[in-house]
Amino acid sequence: MDEQFTIHRRGSVAITRDTIVAVGAEADACTATETIDCRGRVVMPGLVNAHTHVPMTLLRGLADDLRLDVWLMGYMMPVEREFVSPDFVTLGTKLGCAEMIRSGVTCFADMYYFEDSIAQATADAGMRALCAQTVLRFPTPDATSYEDSLARARDFIEQWRGHPLIVPAPAPHAPYTCTPEILRACAELAAEFDVPLHTHLAETTFEVENSRREHGMPVVPWVKKQGLFDAKVLAAHCVHVDDGEIRALKNFNAGVAHNPTSNLKLGAGIAPVARMLELGVDVGIGTDGPASNNDLDMFEEVRLAALLAKGSGGDPTALPARDALAMATRRGARAMHLDHLTGSLEPGKRADLIVVDLDRLHNVPAFDRDPNGIYAQIVYASKSTDVVDVMCNGRWLMRDRALLTLDERALSEAARTQARRVDLFLTGREVSVLQKLVAVGGAVEQESFEVQVKARIPSEAPALSALGSRQITVVRSSHYHQFDTYWSFEDPDQGWLRFREDEFLDKDGDVTGARSRLTLTGRTREEEFGAVLLFRSRYLAPATQSARFYREYFRPAAEHVVEKDRRRWLVAYRGVEFYVHLDRLITPTTDGWFIEIKSRTWSRRDAEDKAVVISELLALFGANPDDTISDGYVQLAAGKR
Ligand SMILES: [Zn+2]
Repeated sequence: MDEQFTIHRRGSVAITRDTIVAVGAEADACTATETIDCRGRVVMPGLVNAHTHVPMTLLRGLADDLRLDVWLMGYMMPVEREFVSPDFVTLGTKLGCAEMIRSGVTCFADMYYFEDSIAQATADAGMRALCAQTVLRFPTPDATSYEDSLARARDFIEQWRGHPLIVPAPAPHAPYTCTPEILRACAELAAEFDVPLHTHLAETTFEVENSRREHGMPVVPWVKKQGLFDAKVLAAHCVHVDDGEIRALKNFNAGVAHNPTSNLKLGAGIAPVARMLELGVDVGIGTDGPASNNDLDMFEEVRLAALLAKGSGGDPTALPARDALAMATRRGARAMHLDHLTGSLEPGKRADLIVVDLDRLHNVPAFDRDPNGIYAQIVYASKSTDVVDVMCNGRWLMRDRALLTLDERALSEAARTQARRVDLFLTGREVSVLQKLVAVGGAVEQESFEVQVKARIPSEAPALSALGSRQITVVRSSHYHQFDTYWSFEDPDQGWLRFREDEFLDKDGDVTGARSRLTLTGRTREEEFGAVLLFRSRYLAPATQSARFYREYFRPAAEHVVEKDRRRWLVAYRGVEFYVHLDRLITPTTDGWFIEIKSRTWSRRDAEDKAVVISELLALFGANPDDTISDGYVQLAAGKR
């Protein structure tokens, strides 16, 4: 897999300690203390997995067939917050290394938390890796702030620099999870120590559209503006990049990690790999984390990369087997900025090699006519289970399919035990909507009680004149356009979950701002004082995700939409503060107006007193006490009135 794609039909590889000293006929002439006969087999460079999150082996199969945000924010991140520790990543890394060695991988690019423990477990397993310490703008399992993560990345790089197997690096997770300062600081850190920088770029159209909206440009020029390319960048994905961006990646000598399975599985799309190669970008192949793949099998990944380029481009000549295999070896090493060490069998490079048995049923016969036939054989017919021996840095990691540095039985057992803990955590969370909400919620407020009444009024005039009267003091007023999405669940005791999007309107009815909130309401009212009801709101949280996110995360049984124009007053009447809402329903279309009066309450006694005052107010606003509606707007929307 050298630049000339030299094939030695007969020949040897001579190794002294950790280094390849001769290849081909030249190596035949070497006298060796130990000779290994590989006749009938292929000796080739160890495969390079250019992008993964290796400890996520422990989260494999935890949540699948979900959209990226629901998968990440709804499942991966809550579980990671709860479980990820140095022990967790050590176990996950060993498990991942065992799997990768078995499938012929000798070198990988990682990005995760507690990267020092990952580096240690990798070095103990004898594998080579670019280990990149994640930096994010929010707290992570290993840092309470981004300053903390940055300090951790610096310590890690200082400690591991110069290690024979590990190349340390910073990993600003992605432009949308970092700030411009984080991107700049990481680039400076990488440049200071002359180590690569590992990141995710342009994975989804959503990311690119947001970048265009927020920064007025797509992802690559934006990170370039933040100085990211002052470092030697390894960018995972680059699914949605245009020609200009591809040229920029080339000009800045950034490597790209193509992750075909992950991109397909998460519906991110298909990266323009053939175009990137055509324009000279170094593209490697990665499995991405085993929670989004769900394995670390590079043989599958190389084959898929080759097939995908042909299928998506409608061109069977696109990405031939030889080029695909180069991406998984020399070119991948170059994308990781480690090609001086690995990726080909050439004198001077480290002895990272694998022996593949081609004498298997699915791989016979073989033809000699076309010298490139061997690449097609490896890419289209061989399987990871055909790898019999693996050497990294001159040390055998697997001989005759037996792992020499890891105990796979013990690792599998420990992984199963760990999975039971995660299962318990998630099933505990899934018992109620409230617990699921807590798992993804930010700041929260629980258990607020309020007394309220809602009545239909034929005209708004009496209400407006009452609000202008001397009896009522208006403390403040506001005007909203409100979109409410109500969700109900199979189990009616879970109550209603409401996703509210408020648009603030000014005097002229123009939108001046917006906010979103989630409220989980108990299904039944707590008490009735005549027409006035005591309600309990169980939970209130700012909604940081879209309605679509919550819909997919909570999987409600039914959904109803209420849209209304709301004028809101905070008033004082007889020394008590109340909120008065004058609503006009847009969806469901309803004639007339509704008046709603409500107040927070703290005790049954307080609620009873306020109920009396609310009844008086109701009369002032011209509502007939018999015209109150006991159910909320959602019941109107659900047609249960
Ligand atoms: Zn990734």
